[in-house]
Amino acid sequence: PPGFSPESARQDIPILHRTVNGHPLVWLDNGATTQKPRQVIEALGAFYGAANSNIHRGAHTMAREATEMYEAGRSAVAQFLGAGSPDDIVFVRGTTEAINLVAQSWGRANLGPGDDILVATLEHHSDIVPWQLIAKETRARVVPIPLTPEGAIDQDAYADLLSSRTQLVAVSHASNVLGTVPPVKEMTALAHRYGAKVLVDGAQAVAHFPVDVRDLDADFYAFSGHKLFAPTGIGALYAKPEILQAMRPWQGGGNMIESVDFTRTTFAPVPHRLEAGTGHISGVVGLLAALNWFTSFDRDAVAAYETALMTYAQQALATVPGLEVLGSAPERIAVLTFTLAGHDPAGIADWLDRDGIAIRAGHHCAQPALAHYGLESAARASLALYNTSEEVDQLVASLRRLQEAPEAEQPGRI
Ligand code: PMP
Repeated sequence: PPGFSPESARQDIPILHRTVNGHPLVWLDNGATTQKPRQVIEALGAFYGAANSNIHRGAHTMAREATEMYEAGRSAVAQFLGAGSPDDIVFVRGTTEAINLVAQSWGRANLGPGDDILVATLEHHSDIVPWQLIAKETRARVVPIPLTPEGAIDQDAYADLLSSRTQLVAVSHASNVLGTVPPVKEMTALAHRYGAKVLVDGAQAVAHFPVDVRDLDADFYAFSGHKLFAPTGIGALYAKPEILQAMRPWQGGGNMIESVDFTRTTFAPVPHRLEAGTGHISGVVGLLAALNWFTSFDRDAVAAYETALMTYAQQALATVPGLEVLGSAPERIAVLTFTLAGHDPAGIADWLDRDGIAIRAGHHCAQPALAHYGLESAARASLALYNTSEEVDQLVASLRRLQEAPEAEQPGRI
């Protein structure tokens, strides 16, 4: 479609021009992590080469410069998510830490015996286990929201599970294993009728379609920078200001206090109250560069391109005998998890790797979603804006060669 060409993204990403096992790299493991444009790599070098300093304390020029960059990163994240203010954004290590923060701070204060936390069956383990941990301590219950055979969230079951006991609904904006994009806005509106809060796991969504947290009316929204062309170790949590302001510290240390006394310590306002210790300053610098890079593209055109590429990939994969893609919900992103009759997923990944094609095999940290299909493991090709139809063709050709190879040469033949 006009407005976006993958070449315009590819030319910025050095790693896409390397070879693996003698073949040009075909990176189809974007659900695990995305590759980085040179703008991000250069921003990290420039920070450490010319601007490194701790922030917020120390009245010197470079501390001020680093503080400005850090806060510019916060403003960019707020704008990217459609938040009303940079103060609504807490920097964290990633989605996992964001959800643990909400569970340990908000959850500890708001959950009690008999309360329900509704968690979609398709959630990543990082949106299940933190709730199990805090539920155990507060004697609340974690209740799974079932899936339909297509891999969508069963909306009738969801409506039936909601009650005045429901304190929180945890749902992904896009599934990392089925690709499903649930109707989060509608689910949020329904949860709010019962007074429940909604946490949206945006880890797989943010790189694929525009997000507006205020339009969704989400109470919490979490994402990881590394799935958005930024470095690992940095991510963000958005929370509605009135919720954030009431949140107690979950970790103590420097940067999060107003004054410390052995009789009484007072805390800084949010978001700083929830950011104990020295933050990942270079990570924020890299995240800012990644957001600047990514938002320079026409986002609707990127989403349209990815949808067209996904449709192409679905049709191409369907021509491989014995291949089945998991999940057929119509609203989805280009995460294509599949099984191939007679082949162990790890063997498929191993074979593709010999051709320079990177996919993921395993449980994808979403064991309940796979169990829904009676599986413990599957192969996953996950696409990003810089992937091309030629790369999809290479994937399909390699899978066909796997099937045609003598059995003794097929890794993981079952
Ligand atoms: N949620 C989803 C939907 C994910 O795909 C992932 C990463 N695979 C996570 C949460 C966890 O993200 P991170 O490991 O970056 O904290």
